[in-house]
Amino acid sequence: MGKHIMLSLIILAFAGVALAGGPDRDTDPKPLPIIDMHLHANPATNNGPPPNGICPGNAQFPDFDPDRPWIEVFLNWAANPPCDDPVWGPETNEGVMQETLEVLRRRNIYGVTSGPLLDDYIENGGDHIIPSLWLGGHPESWPSPDSFRSTLETGKYKVFGEIGLQYLGMSPDHPSFEPYLEILEEMGIPLGIHIGTGPPGVSHFPGSGGHLARMHSALEIEPVIMRHPRLQVYLMHAGWPMIDDLLAVFYAHPQVYADLGIIIFALPKAEIHYYLRRIVQAGFGRRVMFGSDQMNWPGVIEYAIDVIESADFLTETQKRDILYNNAARFLRLSEEEIARHHGR
Ligand SMILES: [Zn+2]
Repeated sequence: MGKHIMLSLIILAFAGVALAGGPDRDTDPKPLPIIDMHLHANPATNNGPPPNGICPGNAQFPDFDPDRPWIEVFLNWAANPPCDDPVWGPETNEGVMQETLEVLRRRNIYGVTSGPLLDDYIENGGDHIIPSLWLGGHPESWPSPDSFRSTLETGKYKVFGEIGLQYLGMSPDHPSFEPYLEILEEMGIPLGIHIGTGPPGVSHFPGSGGHLARMHSALEIEPVIMRHPRLQVYLMHAGWPMIDDLLAVFYAHPQVYADLGIIIFALPKAEIHYYLRRIVQAGFGRRVMFGSDQMNWPGVIEYAIDVIESADFLTETQKRDILYNNAARFLRLSEEEIARHHGR
């Protein structure tokens, strides 16, 4: 979801988290690699005070109550997920990180990762973490274009994302964003931009700035692509639910890819399968990439993988494209990196 409900709850007591045993490199073959294009290094408080959870694939969105602020309704929904088997988030930042890294190692996942705790994830996750430069806040707080360029020149960041202008009610076409786009295009660094869903009703959260429904459209990116035709862009959340707009953009602009973050686990499975089937049957199976949008519920990652693996309308080749090959092409991974991910 990108913009996060940063509650100023500071957790001082770090619970010890037992690491589950990883695969034995000498005896277990490495599973086929997966690239998660939409992973976050975020605090345990990302979706409200812990413990909170989510019902993957079983969306029962909360009911509006005119007598209560919407944020209260939302937080109560997250604290009491309406299903028998929710995925609960760990209570500490350390717990969220360790559970996330355990899944990445065991399933051989490489995550394009952004968020305030990124450096901890890099330090502990090694090459399972592909660093992405996150830009939060309003334009006044953004780095100058010169300092942005110097940051990218360090080579630390492979992607610029997740960019959540939609949460500010700002289109990617906004003049404040233009200098950054020029630099990305020149340096060949891909842009990952939130175009699609945030938390339900987020336009009515305090300080959300107007995350409007009409801005879920993939068409939002079109003026940017026309001005910067060499820029590689992926739409984080795939512009759901505006499938026609997404297909029109895919057709008109081969530079554009999309990931399935959040919609892959927060929507009913039938709906995400319907959306993905439309993308694939229209001929764009090589432009859609796996993404979880794991924030503080690491258990959703494997649920999300299963959504792809269980899709009976996909061939094995299409599944591998979505889980790995499309992202490897988009990120322009070297032959050596691809071989290493495959354990060769
Ligand atoms: Zn997002």
